[in-house]
Amino acid sequence: MDKKIFVMQSSMPPYEEYIEAIKPLWDSHWLTNMGQYHQELENRLKDYLDVSGLSLMVNGHMGLELIIQAMGFQEGDEIITTPFTFISTTHAIVRNRLKPVFCDVKPCDGTIDETKIERLITEKTVAILPIHVYGHVCNVEVIQKIANKYNLKVIYDAAHAFGVRYKGRGIGNYGDASIFSFHATKVFNTVEGGAVVFSNLKLYDKLYNLKNFGIRGEERVISVGANAKMNEFSAIMGLCNLRHINDEIKKRAESMSYYKKELKEIQGITFLEGDAKATSNYAYLPILVEDSYKMSRNELYDLLKRHDIYTRKYFYPITSDQECYGHDYKEANVPIARSLAEKVLVLPMYAGLKKETIDRILDLIY
Ligand SMILES: *Cc1c(COP(=O)(O)O)cnc(C)c1O
Repeated sequence: MDKKIFVMQSSMPPYEEYIEAIKPLWDSHWLTNMGQYHQELENRLKDYLDVSGLSLMVNGHMGLELIIQAMGFQEGDEIITTPFTFISTTHAIVRNRLKPVFCDVKPCDGTIDETKIERLITEKTVAILPIHVYGHVCNVEVIQKIANKYNLKVIYDAAHAFGVRYKGRGIGNYGDASIFSFHATKVFNTVEGGAVVFSNLKLYDKLYNLKNFGIRGEERVISVGANAKMNEFSAIMGLCNLRHINDEIKKRAESMSYYKKELKEIQGITFLEGDAKATSNYAYLPILVEDSYKMSRNELYDLLKRHDIYTRKYFYPITSDQECYGHDYKEANVPIARSLAEKVLVLPMYAGLKKETIDRILDLIY
């Protein structure tokens, strides 16, 4: 009996490596609250991601909520974003009592269509929040130009873009801030975790307050903060996983090219492709099931599932159509995002994926 194949499999360091690394915690009993490993991981990640400022978070979502909060927008202000993303992006805006204004995406890579941003700007617009979806980089240059012209902040959801570089710089250097997710299913994980990166180092203190109740001394609370600190077990998981990250990304690259060589030959299967000026972290393999394929996307999803291959329709439905938002955003003019959501299927992709498994998947798609 073949075992179940999921779309992701969490990367883990060798068991002994992690056990050895957490041993000191049994001496120190220091398990959280910006401990030694929290600091060490912040420093290591600043190097790896090639950024000047970084604040670790309990997860990517809280990073996004708190960096939006740190910007000090007013209730009802508008943020231009896209609905072709994980629900976290839209929730983070709405939970800050701000209004998401949905811009359409580009059919080639699923990122925000920068040519459609300006027409959505109103007096209330305060920021643009684009997503480097699947690790594909947005048109950061044009987005920055628009932001400069209208005096808007730019916050990137880079949850998928760990380690991606664009024109020789870490992707986190673009915009006012970016968030990364270190969730178990992402390219790099700390079990749960995330980080906000930025170049204005004043944000470090602001985020520190927001992630630690605003506590600044035994008897002093200077702001109304949340609790979004990363604990030491997670930080150590990150330090261990970071030692293996280049090897993991290389393995993903091999799987990706093995898959694509075969998939390219199949009538009706096409790809979303990232900008060639950026490096790839091979986070996801989204395929588009076109009308010319022998069955529908949903039929292919069901066929694979019957054979214990669990693919995902990321991102269907688009966030603006989710039931929690009722009819609030039904008028969003996002036909490309809707059509991608109808066609897309994300195939299993992770560092430990075996060639035999890929062959099994390809045989079913053929
Ligand atoms: C995973 C993800 C998040 C949220 O990150 P968590 O670490 O799971 O909180 C946000 N945005 C996108 C696009 C994601 O894929």
